[in-house]
Amino acid sequence: MEEQVLWDSSCDPESSSVFERDRHIFYLEMMYQLLPSPYQAQEINRLTLAYFIISGLDILRALDRIDKNAVINWVLSLQAHPQSEGTLEKGQFYGFHGSRSSQFHSNDTRSAIPNGSHLASTYCALSILKTVGYDLSLIDSDLLLKSMKNLQRPDGCFMPIHTGGETDLRFVFCAAAICSILKNWSGMDREKAKEYIIKCQSYDGGFGLIPGSESHGGATYCAVASLQLMGFLEEDLLSKNAPCHVINVPLLLDWSLQKQAQDGGFQGRANKPADTCYAFWVGGVLKILGADKFINEKALREFLLTCQSEYGGFSKFPRLLPDLYHSYYGFCAFSLLEEPGLNSLCVQLGITHKKLGD
Ligand SMILES: [Zn+2]
Repeated sequence: MEEQVLWDSSCDPESSSVFERDRHIFYLEMMYQLLPSPYQAQEINRLTLAYFIISGLDILRALDRIDKNAVINWVLSLQAHPQSEGTLEKGQFYGFHGSRSSQFHSNDTRSAIPNGSHLASTYCALSILKTVGYDLSLIDSDLLLKSMKNLQRPDGCFMPIHTGGETDLRFVFCAAAICSILKNWSGMDREKAKEYIIKCQSYDGGFGLIPGSESHGGATYCAVASLQLMGFLEEDLLSKNAPCHVINVPLLLDWSLQKQAQDGGFQGRANKPADTCYAFWVGGVLKILGADKFINEKALREFLLTCQSEYGGFSKFPRLLPDLYHSYYGFCAFSLLEEPGLNSLCVQLGITHKKLGD
């Protein structure tokens, strides 16, 4: 009997050599309607998950798939408000809660909704509102920003929440992005934040999350994007041959380029496997510096396509199931690679460019 070809590898959806835009839209729409149970543990970060979905659909030019008014009303319902009009109470922060459950009353007191508003949730809330075209002048920016200033520490770094928590570059970035989106810098001392960021640059050129810690792709993005948003780093610096006296740019460039691994993907730290999200974190740093022309784009694209799921979305490593976080940064990476049919990214804010008046 003649041997039958049961499986033709050229038909293997996992080995697709194109960016599967329609499948990605389908994947995000599915997540918009109902989050699968593995996301249960991340309930507290629901706003962040919504940011990945909504901003992801925006990159894919498919924002028409969502009910924008419903999204706006839901996001606004997560904002923390002072008990009495216009007062700042005990250093509290009036940003956004990460989810409905963090607004629940505790069992013993029925008096007040606890204020669990968080810098990261606030960054995601404002990003979503900007993405769906909400008029941000309707937000009480003064109260939000004045109360955000309470979160900045004497060393320039930020706490994520008024009750404390770890302080590191992630929250400096959130604060800078919030001020940039609201076009009002009264919420932070930029000079102090700059001093803190400078202390986080390591001997090898990358940045650690706190001074003295190991260089890391995510921390390096937070440092460079914050400096750019705060006006300390000119955009496209290398192409313009502009001098920079704030940080060591040649060393940073060196470190960033060395993070492109043998398989074409970017690693977050030396000697770690390449991972989808660092194509954005480290690729984004190179883009902000105007050095993205030094990326081996063909190899990066090939690596990313091995992480593209047959169900839509991207996984962390090749041939795993997709997750929202890596899917979003996969879409961002393809936008940086100028994939046709995608909206372009404002790298330092992590959302798409909006035309004037949007
Ligand atoms: Zn990752």
